[in-house]
Amino acid sequence: MMGYDALFFEGSSDSEMIATAIAENRVILTRDTQIMRRRVVTNGQLKAVLIQSDEPEQQVHQVMDTLKLDSQFQPFSICLECNQPLVERSKEEVKERVPPYVFQTQSQYMECTACHRIYWRGTHWQTMTRKLEHLVKG
Ligand SMILES: [Zn+2]
Repeated sequence: MMGYDALFFEGSSDSEMIATAIAENRVILTRDTQIMRRRVVTNGQLKAVLIQSDEPEQQVHQVMDTLKLDSQFQPFSICLECNQPLVERSKEEVKERVPPYVFQTQSQYMECTACHRIYWRGTHWQTMTRKLEHLVKG
């Protein structure tokens, strides 16, 4: 949602996750202390952050502070499903692809260039953007 390329790992083993992270140059965010003891992490080949809090807002703060992400913050600029950039679409362009109620009430739309999912700036978008901005500033 904040516009950072992110992957929720759904594979079965830590080794697979580590291999993916290295191959895709990702940072692992984990609550698993075992991961932090892996040689690839302790020798600095793979960056990993051990998430400290149970509380989502504090987790976001920790990640942003640790990875110094503030300046790159662009809410809803990439697809939540596949991390690809979103492009603006006109109301007419999405007419057949969104629910009628959405079409009637929303004017700003974005489309994922890869999976073609349509996003609109509804109340959820507004609420999340406000929350994220508050998080970053707070
Ligand atoms: Zn997509």
